[in-house]
Amino acid sequence: MSQSNHSSRRNFLKALGLGAGFATAPSVIRAATTRPHVIVVGGGFAGATAAKYLRHWSTSVDVTLIEPNANYYSPILSNLVLNGQRNLSQLSFNYATLAQQYGISVVQDRVNTIDSANHTVTLAGGNTLAYDRLILAPGIDFMTVPGLDSDLIPHAWQSGPQIQQLQQQLAAMPAGGTFVMTIPKAPYRCPPGPYERACVVADYLKRHNPTAKLIVLDANAGIIVEQETFNHAFTVTYAGIVEYLPDSELQAVDSVQRIATTNYGEYAADVLNVIPPHQAGSLIHQAGLANDASGRWAVINPLSYESTAAADIHVIGDSQATGQPKAGHIANAEAKVCADAILRLLAGGQPYAAPMTNSACYSPISADTASWLTAVFAYNSASGAMELVPQSLGASQGASRSNYNKMFDWADSLFGDTFA
Ligand SMILES: Cc1cc2nc3c(=O)[nH]c(=O)nc-3n(C[C@H](O)[C@H](O)[C@H](O)COP(=O)(O)OP(=O)(O)OC[C@H]3O[C@@H](n4cnc5c(N)ncnc54)[C@H](O)[C@@H]3O)c2cc1C
Repeated sequence: MSQSNHSSRRNFLKALGLGAGFATAPSVIRAATTRPHVIVVGGGFAGATAAKYLRHWSTSVDVTLIEPNANYYSPILSNLVLNGQRNLSQLSFNYATLAQQYGISVVQDRVNTIDSANHTVTLAGGNTLAYDRLILAPGIDFMTVPGLDSDLIPHAWQSGPQIQQLQQQLAAMPAGGTFVMTIPKAPYRCPPGPYERACVVADYLKRHNPTAKLIVLDANAGIIVEQETFNHAFTVTYAGIVEYLPDSELQAVDSVQRIATTNYGEYAADVLNVIPPHQAGSLIHQAGLANDASGRWAVINPLSYESTAAADIHVIGDSQATGQPKAGHIANAEAKVCADAILRLLAGGQPYAAPMTNSACYSPISADTASWLTAVFAYNSASGAMELVPQSLGASQGASRSNYNKMFDWADSLFGDTFA
């Protein structure tokens, strides 16, 4: 299917979904303009950035952002809710600036189905919208763990109020109680994130419940990033509190009794935090785009993020299968590569041939120290893949107060670049 065929300037209404008139039986919404229309699904770090930069770089494309939630809660910095250093309102963003300043049509709804042949998406509310190019950024979904009820046993791994629920459970834990958390096998969202969570929980216990224990059940063979920093935290900073158990693969959960069963046995908890294995957002699976070897993630062309399974559909952020980390900073970078490629394609050109992206993660280790990790990825035209630039891999020498302060500057800059 050629680009020009589907850059046929599909029409649409700018006030999508805002008027009562759209509540009737589904019909494809098109309008009397000839401007290209890009629909972005998902308003997280990937989708919000893509929508913003499409309009930042071009006023001759119409952009619709579809997201079910009025507010986005950043998973980045969310572990700090657990030890009281941040509250949810400080991690909350809305789409007002994207709508008002960038002229993006923000539709509060969920995409239920995609018709790639007819270039339409159908929303839970019933409307069907036509696109020239579709960007999917639905983040992650979780795989089934026998017995797991995530309402009782919060993962707190997606944006939203589950982190508050986990914080309340932590605060209500009996003196000398046991907190058990599980880490899935990589790849998962935010490589240092679970170890960061263990540190923040241990920090809370050290200060408020010093005879309590934290058992970390890691399905991986060992700490997968920043080994020295996290190992030092577990064995020195939080000695006597943290018990770290690698190669512990979760097999089942008793959500009522709060018991995690692994290949090594059963672990009873006063608070149980299960981070289940991940896969691409469910929309990717429904659309038949989860076409990597594991059947969990979407294979894309790294020059444009266009799916290898469906023309004119692009997948960015945590759902994609390039091997780049599943993280918000790099999702923001992927979104810019994708937006740039789409604008070039819509103008009859080709995507930029040598894209680079970078990743950065700051990890709070205590209430006033943090560490960081960074990496740069570059397109290799011989392999056709995004590859780590070896000398770019950097990590802090342990945790420090100075890193802790810089963490908020970095996050503010990323939040601003995405939502403001
Ligand atoms: C504790 C923790 C700490 C982290 N720290 C860092 C860090 O230091 N640095 C870093 O770079 N990253 C970090 N991350 C990772 C980062 O939060 C994610 O990688 C990032 O949010 C991925 O962005 P995304 O846009 O792909 O997905 P998301 O942010 O999850 O956004 C997906 C959006 O899509 C919407 N959506 C889903 N399905 C549909 C549908 N059918 N229709 C419409 N909308 C839909 C959802 O409502 C959601 O708003 C951290 C994560 C956690 C959990």
